[in-house]
Amino acid sequence: MSEPTLTQVDPEIASLIAHEERRQLDNLRLIASENYASRAVQEATASPLSNKYSEGYAGKRYYQGQEYVDQVEGLAIARLKQLFGVEHVNVQPYSGSPANLAVHYAFLRPGDRTVGLGLPAGGHLTHGWKVSITGDYFEAHQYGVRADDHRIDLDQVARLVKEHRPKILWCGTTAYPRHVPYAEFAQIARDAGAILVADIAHVSGLIAGGAHPSPVGLAPIITSTTHKTLRGPRGGMILCEARYAKEIDKAVFPGLQGGPHNSGIAALAVAAHEALAPSFRTYAKAVVDNARAMGEALMSRGVDLVTGGTDTHLLLADVTSKNVAGKPAAIALEAAGIVCNYNSVPFDTRKPFDPSGIRLGTAAVTSRGMGEGEMRIIGGWIADVLEAPTDAAVLARVRAEVLALCQTFPAPGLERR
Ligand SMILES: *Cc1c(COP(=O)(O)O)cnc(C)c1O
Repeated sequence: MSEPTLTQVDPEIASLIAHEERRQLDNLRLIASENYASRAVQEATASPLSNKYSEGYAGKRYYQGQEYVDQVEGLAIARLKQLFGVEHVNVQPYSGSPANLAVHYAFLRPGDRTVGLGLPAGGHLTHGWKVSITGDYFEAHQYGVRADDHRIDLDQVARLVKEHRPKILWCGTTAYPRHVPYAEFAQIARDAGAILVADIAHVSGLIAGGAHPSPVGLAPIITSTTHKTLRGPRGGMILCEARYAKEIDKAVFPGLQGGPHNSGIAALAVAAHEALAPSFRTYAKAVVDNARAMGEALMSRGVDLVTGGTDTHLLLADVTSKNVAGKPAAIALEAAGIVCNYNSVPFDTRKPFDPSGIRLGTAAVTSRGMGEGEMRIIGGWIADVLEAPTDAAVLARVRAEVLALCQTFPAPGLERR
């Protein structure tokens, strides 16, 4: 008798997974950090490599039986080196946050100083925000964006770096629609003898696909997630110049982690292989073109966009321009089949749990093959909902139109039913 399936063993979990798959098929997923990993990536993620313990690095493991795991990790590293043009890659961080903590651990001791972009201005928690270990165990100073144009305030960055002499200067964003000025950051870091770390978690796929400037050559350390625009499995990675390889590797293992997640590393190798194909360049460019098209549709309906547009996959809309707050807007949009997150906007006068904005991203819908025409339609639906967030008839009408659109665009990695 063959081994029972998930449905036979655990129908409760199997059913929840099936429902989640249905949800991912039948909704427009505009959460800027999400995507659809391919079937190939998912197969590697769910592979028996997960059974294997392999603390250490290829050729220097602590357990026997590493013949294949060493090759898998070697392929992941080689492909990512080629994809990003870097000297060294560590693929073992469990996710983006542990990758950033490993960088702190590699170069800082508790109380040492860092400078990073504050959360309310579009930065990530792990760049020194107070509630994160990176802001609690280290002396983190935070810069913001300018009041007039909501772009990163480089004068403030230079001032903070000069005043506090941090060991690490962080750049990179989680809710900021424009390019990060890597060259200017590099100059500021160089002048102060700080190590510039670029966190490209959101835009790594765009960089890989040539649709966004790369910090390689400017930031000697680069961290990233692997599951956002890069479209890999959930995970993290650190790219760095060879001179920092030892410190980075030591900080990840044994400094912070035990055994690496080998199935995730295999899936990352698959994602890197996919990203090296010419079609990924087409994808990355389409993601950015789509965000611009959706932004133009929203602005034409009177929705305020932070910085007045986007250079990336991401839009930050101040929906108070439509007389609704971010959270009720996100809830109404979900009822209409459009899934996003509420988000603070720069200098937000509302509370973080009830802020003024919503954040939108085009990585996932572009993976379904949608183009600028669909983006303009979706932008119109978003505006319809923002103008009538409590009108059940409007929500139902948009929900039906969303479903019809989703049914004509299959999603990578998901069954078409
Ligand atoms: C998403 C993100 C992270 C954290 O990644 P997790 O995998 O959620 O831990 C770190 N930095 C930035 C800039 C991000 O956007």
